[in-house]
Order: sequence, then C-alpha cells, then structure tokens
Amino acid sequence: MCRHLGWLGADVTVSSLVLDPPYGLRVQSYAPRRQKHGLLNADGWGVGFFDASAGGQVPRRWRSQAPLWGDVSFESVAAALRSHCVVAAVRSATVGMPIDASATAPFTDGQWLLSHNGVVDRAVLSGTSQAESVCDSALLAAAIFERGLDELGETISEVAAADPNARLNILAANGSRLLATAWGDTLSILRRADGIVLASEPYDDDPGWEEVPDRHLVEVTATGVALTPLDHSEGYR
Ligand code: GLN
Repeated sequence: MCRHLGWLGADVTVSSLVLDPPYGLRVQSYAPRRQKHGLLNADGWGVGFFDASAGGQVPRRWRSQAPLWGDVSFESVAAALRSHCVVAAVRSATVGMPIDASATAPFTDGQWLLSHNGVVDRAVLSGTSQAESVCDSALLAAAIFERGLDELGETISEVAAADPNARLNILAANGSRLLATAWGDTLSILRRADGIVLASEPYDDDPGWEEVPDRHLVEVTATGVALTPLDHSEGYR
C-alpha cells in the first residue's frame, strides 16, 4: 500500500525530505524496498506542510493523481518550499477507489494533515460525514478528525476491531505534533540532530533508522518521541 513520510524539526526543504534521498518517496513511487502490498505507488502523490510565513500553523497541500517520478513542476519548486513540519505520501490506490487528487493524502480538517497507508472496509465508517472523497482513506481521515487526534489510538483499535482485515498505518501532524500508528504495515523512525522523521520505510541506509513494532502509536513533540502499544489484548511487545 502507499508509502508516507512525516517530519518535525528544523526548517528544511521539501525536496530534501521527499525528492533527494536515495530511497525517498520519489524512488518509492516506482521502487519501494519494504512495501508488503503492491509493487509501486503510481496513483498520485501529495505533500502537505505547515507554512512558516503564516505562523507555522497553517497547513498547505499540493496533491496530484499523477506519479511523483514524472512531476517536473513539483521538482522545480520543492527546493524552495521550507517547513518545520511536513506530511507527504505516494499512493497505490486500493481496487475500487477513485484515482484523483481529492482521494490522495494528505487529507486535512484545516488543522491537521493526515495520511493513511493501508485499507479499511468503508462499511465500518459509514456514519462518517464530511469526507473529502469516497476513498476509504478519506473516510477514515474524517472519522479520526471527528473524534479528535488525542484519541487516535482508541479510534484505530476500534476500527481494527470492527474490520479485522484492516491495515491502519496513520501519519498525522498539526505543526507541533507528529502522530503515527503502525498497524499492519511497516513504519520506521530516524532521530536526526535537527528533527525526527517517521516514514513507511527508510529513505537511506543510515544505521540510525529504527523499526516501530506493529500495533503501536508514536507521538513526536519538541520534547521527544513516545511509543505506546495499542493492542492491549496481546500484552506489551
Ligand atoms: N486505501 C487507500 C487508497 O486507496 C490507501 C492505499 C494504500 O495505502 N496503498 O488510496
């Protein structure tokens, strides 16, 4: 399924996170290294970032239904986009889901940017209103926004209980917090001197990348990184 990346730290360019790394999202759009479901991510891409010129709290997005590897316009401006907080994704659409920019992460409620890497039965989200698209990920994003990000872990555990086949890797940011879940797919952390990267898979071969165990919540703030197990029924891992 899709691949995503989040950053919280110093102001850096979007291209340094997404386009320049040897195995970054641009390369992951055609040659992901750890993807368990799907061979490539050609069904669109999205980059969201919090705009320092607007006080650092305003989310801005650029999304497309085309493959990231071919987007020369984005390449030319990504080097000039700087932010301390970024959420980016490349998409491999689930069968039956629409392929258009509105179905592509990151989704937003005006405060948070959110990406979903996985799949979920839309029937379990049928009470959700105000989704940006009929895509499963957009419905899940709307359900998470509605409940509030402080309850992300509870929401994911409940959705997983309602749809045991769901894969629910979420990545969300609001400019000062970066939250992620690992539930059914890969997630790694890189603690850099200038900030923290959370990514579906390492964007380079730095030995500092750590794998997040499945069924865990990760919270990154200015004060550090916290991992919390989500699946209490199976005990702490
Ligand atoms: N199910 C979502 C979609 O169709 C996400 C897919 C994915 O993670 N590959 O876009």
